[in-house]
Amino acid sequence: MSHRLLVVGGGITGLTAGYRLTVDNPELDVTVLEASPRAGGYLQTGLLDDPVLDDLPIDAGADAFLVRVPWARDLCHELGLADELVSPSARQASLWLDGTLRPLPTPNVLGVPLDPATVADGLLEPEDLRLVAGDGVPAMALDPDADASVGSVVRACLGDQVFERLVDPLLGGVNAGRADDLSCEVMAPQLLGAARSPDGMLASLRRAVSGTDPTSPVFHSPQDGMERLVDALVSMLGDRFQTGVPVTGLSRGDGPEARWLVSTPTGTRTADSVILAVPAHVAADLVSPIDADAGTLLAGWQHASVALATIAYDRADLEVDPTQSGFLVGRREGLLMTACSFAGSKWAHLDHPERAILRVSCGRIDDTRPSEFSDKTLIESLRADLATTLGVEAPPTAVRLGRFPDSLVQFPVDHSNRIDQLDALLADSAPGVLVAGSVRTGVGIPACIQSGTEAARQASELAAGLAN
Ligand SMILES: Cc1cc2nc3c(=O)[nH]c(=O)nc-3n(C[C@H](O)[C@H](O)[C@H](O)COP(=O)(O)OP(=O)(O)OC[C@H]3O[C@@H](n4cnc5c(N)ncnc54)[C@H](O)[C@@H]3O)c2cc1C
Repeated sequence: MSHRLLVVGGGITGLTAGYRLTVDNPELDVTVLEASPRAGGYLQTGLLDDPVLDDLPIDAGADAFLVRVPWARDLCHELGLADELVSPSARQASLWLDGTLRPLPTPNVLGVPLDPATVADGLLEPEDLRLVAGDGVPAMALDPDADASVGSVVRACLGDQVFERLVDPLLGGVNAGRADDLSCEVMAPQLLGAARSPDGMLASLRRAVSGTDPTSPVFHSPQDGMERLVDALVSMLGDRFQTGVPVTGLSRGDGPEARWLVSTPTGTRTADSVILAVPAHVAADLVSPIDADAGTLLAGWQHASVALATIAYDRADLEVDPTQSGFLVGRREGLLMTACSFAGSKWAHLDHPERAILRVSCGRIDDTRPSEFSDKTLIESLRADLATTLGVEAPPTAVRLGRFPDSLVQFPVDHSNRIDQLDALLADSAPGVLVAGSVRTGVGIPACIQSGTEAARQASELAAGLAN
């Protein structure tokens, strides 16, 4: 009997795991089960209800992946999507702080400015600019081995203002968190490494940046949206991918083989290995009956809920700066929105002659208003914020609201030790059950693809071990 593997969850992590197993180990019996009627999880592309835009696919969730790490780019190339990849045309972003928009300094690394001359007037006080002109040697020595929060690392090297006015809006925006609480090892490893350098954070970052080509692309996306990647994986999986099959329970069978029993509303499936490619809070429910400690660990990762509205305006009512990709919003600005991306400036194919298309985000770990607001109130509030920031009062031509409850993992200091603990518990109590996804090393698409790939590798090694 061939080794049977079940992947639970058909987001980018689970699809990657299923694809990898199928391609690299065709002898294995692989099935990917997805609860919802569609594949892709947070990767969703669709049309706006606007007759002028009705043939333009626009992402409702993630719209780009980082290319300075290889995993997403390599997978796209392997799937034959290389010719479809595009990169942002506008790369300069701004910051809404003190009730005004100012460009982010360039170059910057995760918000840390490297050249005080490029810091816009009013963004930092003279004493902070003096710190930015220096080498960024931390005020106290950092533990060379221990993780620390992004806040404590940046504050130690560059003071409170650089952190609160630049780094927190940028990094806190990426995963809707509070950078004072987030692991520097996970969220900003380059800042942690630079801060540990004997000559200081800024000196080290300047050296690293001087070795990179500033014109090389930072992000890519398939031109027709992220669902192109999802569709390519689904078509490779064929009938190994099944939608509308929520996994409701996991238990260990009896007998010499002691296979895993995976419960679904349509019956119980058996498997030798199970990859849980679902959010950590879902994995917690499935794992708890087998290993209460592992379940408690998984349930301990907090998740932020966010919403993203795609809003189109007639260009007669709103013109955005074509050189700007959008702006971030500081947490003390009293606005609901956390970021606004100018889709038409960012992506040449979305630069429509008649419409300005915005992607407006809201929700943070410590701002749960979007989850509490009705759709109507949420959209009205975001429109009010756009009136404040961009001065647009006219009604939009189309609005699409995407809600992403409990979607963005918050990585606490010492996160990687918790992951090691989880793996050790499961290896002992649930051999063959693997947890994959954004909870492991980051919420970005490349990190999820890496995690799916790694889970597939581990599962195939287990299969080889059982076969011998
Ligand atoms: C609004 C938003 C914007 C983002 N933008 C970017 C970006 O631009 N670039 C970037 O790199 N990253 C971005 N991210 C992060 C990235 O999209 C996610 O971290 C990534 O897509 C997560 O993929 P995943 O497969 O691990 O999880 P998910 O996408 O959550 O997939 C998990 C799947 O499991 C299914 N499932 C859940 N429970 C069960 C069950 N019991 N049985 C079976 N199936 C189940 C779900 O339906 C879902 O399809 C963004 C995230 C959000 C929310």
